Amino acid sequence: MSGSDDIPGASRPPSVDRLARALADTGLPHPLLVDAARAAVADGDPEGAEERARAMIALTARNLLVGVINATGVLLHTNLGRAPLAAPTGDGRRFTNLEFDLASGSRGSRQDRAARLLARACGAEAAMVVNNCASAVMLALAALATGRGVAVSRGELVEIGGGFRIPEVMAQSGARLVEVGTTNRTRQSDFEAVVASGEVALALKVHRSNYRIVGFTEAVGVAEMAGLGVPVVADLGSGLLDAACPWLADGPPSWLTDEPGAVQSLEAGADLVTFSGDKLLGGPQAGVIAGRADLVEACTAHPLARALRPGGLVMAALQKVALAYLERDGLAIPFWRMATITVADLRTRAEAIEPGLAGDTVATPGGGTLPGVEIPSAGLVVPGDHVVALRAGDPPIIARVVEGSTVVDLRTVHPDDDPLVAKAIGRLG
Ligand SMILES: *Cc1c(COP(=O)(O)O)cnc(C)c1O
Repeated sequence: MSGSDDIPGASRPPSVDRLARALADTGLPHPLLVDAARAAVADGDPEGAEERARAMIALTARNLLVGVINATGVLLHTNLGRAPLAAPTGDGRRFTNLEFDLASGSRGSRQDRAARLLARACGAEAAMVVNNCASAVMLALAALATGRGVAVSRGELVEIGGGFRIPEVMAQSGARLVEVGTTNRTRQSDFEAVVASGEVALALKVHRSNYRIVGFTEAVGVAEMAGLGVPVVADLGSGLLDAACPWLADGPPSWLTDEPGAVQSLEAGADLVTFSGDKLLGGPQAGVIAGRADLVEACTAHPLARALRPGGLVMAALQKVALAYLERDGLAIPFWRMATITVADLRTRAEAIEPGLAGDTVATPGGGTLPGVEIPSAGLVVPGDHVVALRAGDPPIIARVVEGSTVVDLRTVHPDDDPLVAKAIGRLG
């Protein structure tokens, strides 16, 4: 996947590459080193480029969310994350620089770290983080289309579950839904007609997520919608950052087909993408709005942004995930570790727990993503229905019954918990 750690489509001179490699000892992810190297090389005489780059990297490192000692005497310091929490940054500190700029000593923005890193990881100019993807869609519509029309294909007026229904979110945002096409077929000309009427400020593409339309169908892709002459927002939902999965040594798993990536949607011409933090991104509950800097800025400036902002715990967890993506270290993200462990490894674990009960199982992505997709897996298959007994244990084990047997799928069990699973299964008798 050479080159795709860079802003998609851009190439860089060898001097930038060389300098970025020379900066590896700083410990920051390579794409950030490339950014610093590029800026330093562009900045003047080659002699001092490395020194300038190191200074920029030091600033970047300093600007990450870190633990701080609050010696201000202000017990609930808003810039330091208000009430102290148990070690949100994992370094034992009780406060963070959530809204504090360590360089200037003045107020900073909580959108500076995780959001900036995620923007970098998906090749966007800018990004912001809100409470969840529902908030992200609502805020984007409110900030960009209140009192105006938003064109959406009738085939994408979906309900995701838990009350997220596109027409209702639209109504709450103050934007007016302009339905386009039919349930099964929507064409570019349908969109062109409503845009020509002058009533729409925005075109919204919604990932169907939890259902499929098969048969006599037609849909308009992001690339075509990008030619309509109004901003295009693509609600991706699932939060697959890059369809090529460069953070996995073997690329995307075979069951991850046709899932739109944020990188690809932006490359195809989406002006903004929205996605969840806790679906395929593998982070905490959050929503991400990424894309054109002016549109992200409009979202940041909207009064709803304050109501929808996440706290320091979420930002710290999301920063960790974003850094793992920039490092291309998928194994540092528990979701991807769980998603890519081989069936052979799972079988070995199952046999170590109870050879007589080890068997093949079928896992699913879940979370309202990838409907009907099955992931080959392995675990323990215990004759009879034991789900109540397993749930009553300490810790509770949540299993399911398939054709009269209790299935304990090990794909979603952390290996450290195998001994507890073994004990619980031993007790079933
Ligand atoms: C899941 C999903 C949402 C809602 O995301 P939350 O983070 O749960 O609020 C919105 N849009 C799409 C397309 C989704 O798949």
